[in-house]
Amino acid sequence: MTTNRGRGARSVDFSEVRERVPLEWFFEAVLGATPKAMSGTIRFPVCPQCGPSSKHSVKVSCKDGKWKCHACPGKGDVVEAAAKHWGLSLKDAALRLVNADQEVMQSYEPPKARPALERDDSALHEVIAKLLAVSQPPTNAALAYFKGRGIGEAIVKEAVKRGLLVVLPHDPELCKKYLVDVAGRDALIASTLWREDAKAPAAAFRPLMFVSKEGKAAEFRIMRLTEPGEHKSLRYGGIHPWAWVNESQDRIMLTEGCLDLLASLAMGTKRSIIGLPGCENWRDDWFAKLKGRDVLTAFDADEAGLAATQKITPVLQKAGASKVDAYELPKDAKDINEQLILQGPHCKLDFFETQESTEPYRDATLSLPGCDQWISLQFGTLKGRHVKLTLGGPKTRNDAALERLVSTLKSGKATVSVANPR
Ligand SMILES: [Zn+2]
Repeated sequence: MTTNRGRGARSVDFSEVRERVPLEWFFEAVLGATPKAMSGTIRFPVCPQCGPSSKHSVKVSCKDGKWKCHACPGKGDVVEAAAKHWGLSLKDAALRLVNADQEVMQSYEPPKARPALERDDSALHEVIAKLLAVSQPPTNAALAYFKGRGIGEAIVKEAVKRGLLVVLPHDPELCKKYLVDVAGRDALIASTLWREDAKAPAAAFRPLMFVSKEGKAAEFRIMRLTEPGEHKSLRYGGIHPWAWVNESQDRIMLTEGCLDLLASLAMGTKRSIIGLPGCENWRDDWFAKLKGRDVLTAFDADEAGLAATQKITPVLQKAGASKVDAYELPKDAKDINEQLILQGPHCKLDFFETQESTEPYRDATLSLPGCDQWISLQFGTLKGRHVKLTLGGPKTRNDAALERLVSTLKSGKATVSVANPR
């Protein structure tokens, strides 16, 4: 691995050093650290970069010849560990490593990681089932929260009835007591909903529980504005979708999260909806039953959402979807729920269909408070549609405003006719 050249210069083959010097040997023999076998990795209480940690913390994990510190940004291979620890260049560190006693190194037996644990969510499933079994009608606080997001009482109540939503007591103390009464402290701990050293389960502060298909996972969501550093929602269990069977089962919609699923219903869709637990969190086999269906994706208008749309479209096509479209949010809205809030829940349009949809489009009514009281954003979905304007009485007539309304609609590619009542 080292070659002598003229004037004593030596070159180093790093990959050979990595092969001959086991990473775990470096941690045990050089850093004097005691290994701890964990599921899938070996952990050590000493970091080559930030030094030793307290006795109980094993902050560095080693796997497949690489180490990573969970307390500092330090990571790398055995040469990088040695360079950090000795304060040498990579080359000098590699040379020092190969000069270590080869016999000792060859007889070294690295510790073995424990086999990676199979995920066991049975305790969680039991807690979810218990909470579903005693699910209460939505509290006024919850109804007010959803109303503020444009989602009306009927949809919230239906979501509770379907077991998609469980509304827990709003007050954290009462919620904690409720969770303990229903599920028991031990089950809450076993299900990981309650960290043993915490005063209360994190769910006690997040009273909206969105239940995934077949009760396999749950997301607990805060019902107020979050404080800095606070998580808006916490998810427990594996990756599972939310599902809403709707009037149309030939047309399907994919949303990012459960709140957007409910918002889409409030925006009038008749499509059945699959709510993904994050636009990157899905598995191909969820879409196996979409053969021959018309599928609309409606992810957030951010980088992740756009990337996810590109990634999922060929998967849906491969699953045999007859049509795959991506819903285009209006410019000012970054997700479905924001569009709903901006455009107003009073709007009776089905936002997600165009005239080319396979099912005939029904007449829809949009009531404006006055012919000068609207924003162009409200008409973002009228492209290609015929709009019949019905005016109020002569007292409220405002010809200039009417003209602006007509030209705005026309510039949005709608055809317009004006009905003039007596
Ligand atoms: Zn470190």
